Amino acid sequence: MLRLTEIRLSLDHAEAALQQAIATRLGIAADAVVDFTIFRRGIDARKHARILFVYTVDVVLHDEAAVLARVADDPHVGLAPDTTYRFVTHATADLPTRPVVIGMGPCGLFAGLILAQMGFCPIILERGKPVRERTRDTFGLWRQGVLDPESNVQFGEGGAGTFSDGKLHSQIKDPKHYGRKVLTEFVKAGAPPEILYVSKPHIGTFRLVSMIEKMRATIESLGGEIRFGHKVDDLLIENGQLRGVHLANGDHLRSDHVVLAVGHSARDTFQMLHTRGVHLEAKPFSVGFRIEHPQSLIDACRLGPNAGHPALGAADYKLAYHASNGRSVYSFCMCPGGTVVAATSEPERVVTNGMSQYSRNERNANSGIVVGISPADYPGDALAGIAFQRQWESRAYELGGRNYHAPAQLVGDFLAGVASTGLGTVIPSYTPGVRPCDLSSALPDYAIEAIREAIPAFARQIHGFAQHDAVLTGVETRTSSPIRIRRGADYQSINTAGLYPAGEGAGYAGGILSAAIDGIEVAEAIALNIAQSTRTA
Ligand code: FAD
Repeated sequence: MLRLTEIRLSLDHAEAALQQAIATRLGIAADAVVDFTIFRRGIDARKHARILFVYTVDVVLHDEAAVLARVADDPHVGLAPDTTYRFVTHATADLPTRPVVIGMGPCGLFAGLILAQMGFCPIILERGKPVRERTRDTFGLWRQGVLDPESNVQFGEGGAGTFSDGKLHSQIKDPKHYGRKVLTEFVKAGAPPEILYVSKPHIGTFRLVSMIEKMRATIESLGGEIRFGHKVDDLLIENGQLRGVHLANGDHLRSDHVVLAVGHSARDTFQMLHTRGVHLEAKPFSVGFRIEHPQSLIDACRLGPNAGHPALGAADYKLAYHASNGRSVYSFCMCPGGTVVAATSEPERVVTNGMSQYSRNERNANSGIVVGISPADYPGDALAGIAFQRQWESRAYELGGRNYHAPAQLVGDFLAGVASTGLGTVIPSYTPGVRPCDLSSALPDYAIEAIREAIPAFARQIHGFAQHDAVLTGVETRTSSPIRIRRGADYQSINTAGLYPAGEGAGYAGGILSAAIDGIEVAEAIALNIAQSTRTA
């Protein structure tokens, strides 16, 4: 199979134009193309008046070698790499031990799925509820201001990414093409097939819910087991080797292979690991606010006369700025046509994040505008970053009126340093509601200064970004994990053998795709370890 890159066609091209463009590039007749699949479809929007699709296609021909030799000088034609996923091993019939996976976010879900597909019959322990019940609890906070600390945006089947934009792109290097395996499994579970080739795939919240249920059924059909409402609250460690886990309901479960995929909000679990002496380190993360603009403003700026074109959908943006106080400020988890959501998992705290539906057709665009911080900003032990997050999340709860409303400020007022007393034309999407106020005491001074400087700079790239009545809501503190659970080349904790820290909470992923890929890698490490110990036994 040949791979052709950089095939550029207009937004409104006819379906047959792609096959014709392939043939023209290869110097063959269109009917000599036996078959082709789109591997990637990007968009070149640098010239608003002439936005183009940019295709990468995999092409099947009868005489590939001859054609390849003829176009040897074309850097955009070559052999297509093999992206097929192959299992590293399979369990033997006399399975000596069942691996345990703690957490059923994208990382735990994929660790569990791959282990199940290899025949290792994993047991997944999830503190939260099945996704439908969890959805009801999450709406309890959003609609009635009632938080369930064990069932919310962060905790429950599907993990933190369930109520999200479902963006599935990642900057990580993926030499083994594991991202393809993740996307393929998502499509099998009901994701739109286009996620396999569009350059910035996304799924949206509603579809994620039913996909997660299908993946659960697949794991169970392969001999895996999922136990909801099962919070791990202790580890059974003997001479530096993990032997099992203890559960909050008093039970314990023995296993020598435990994936720890608890996400970045499992603060009680991090405390337990610290107490047990598992090696943890404080790591950098970012804090800031959500910003909301009319989506039409972003569309007009990014897509010009093509704004609203059905092939383009709602436009996104990605912004970065280096402030004069040395802080970097950047847009985080941008959600076109989406909503700002209440994302706390702890009582009497307020945390923002963003989500959208597949259609991305809500009136506002939102993104985090966040400032990078490091352990030097929160000196102390490995858990000091958590104390820092809690301090600002509690402050936001106070500023919001102590009822889970988010503190909010108009961008114009924020830049002028005056408190907001009302809203303008941009109606904030955060529920249960917002309270206009002065956000300057909602984060450390250095963060406020850096964001004040960054917003006008961003407005030079997106005209209107500093619009007076665009809305800031706070606080965005859960951008990534404040800790890293250091692991070795064998994916095991550097001081607790048998414990496999994984995903975002352990500091090895940031986002759905990278967490899922990390889950695959950890599952492979466990499978190989079990296979090796079976051979040597
Ligand atoms: P998590 O998804 O956090 O899963 C951890 C799981 O472990 C949870 O289900 C939790 O209940 C469980 N758990 C915790 N402690 C225990 C315990 N002691 N015992 C048993 N179970 C436990 N990323 C993107 O790539 N694209 C997006 O569009 C996007 N949007 C987002 C929107 C929102 C509102 C949020 C909150 C996050 C978003 N993210 C997005 C980030 C993404 O969700 C995370 O990066 C990803 O979910 C991390 O996966 P994970 O499996 O490592 O951890």
